[in-house]
Amino acid sequence: MDTLMTCDEAGPRIARFVDGQLVDAEYRSVRKHLAGCPLCRSGFYRAMARGILAAHARPAPPAPKRSPEVKSPTCPGLTG
Ligand SMILES: [Zn+2]
Repeated sequence: MDTLMTCDEAGPRIARFVDGQLVDAEYRSVRKHLAGCPLCRSGFYRAMARGILAAHARPAPPAPKRSPEVKSPTCPGLTG
């Protein structure tokens, strides 16, 4: 009952762990694995950093609609 996850098991779950999408038992297993596995912990930190970056990287607000630039006046002097 108290078997530790292997890296192969924990690895794919780390992203969901960071997102808070793991259910209780799985969450605890991953957390326990991270506590004892520096390798996966660094992956966890990377995932955290990505999550933080993603949270800040909101899509740019749509550019305000601007009426088309005023047409440059034609210069009568240049014709012909
Ligand atoms: Zn590991």
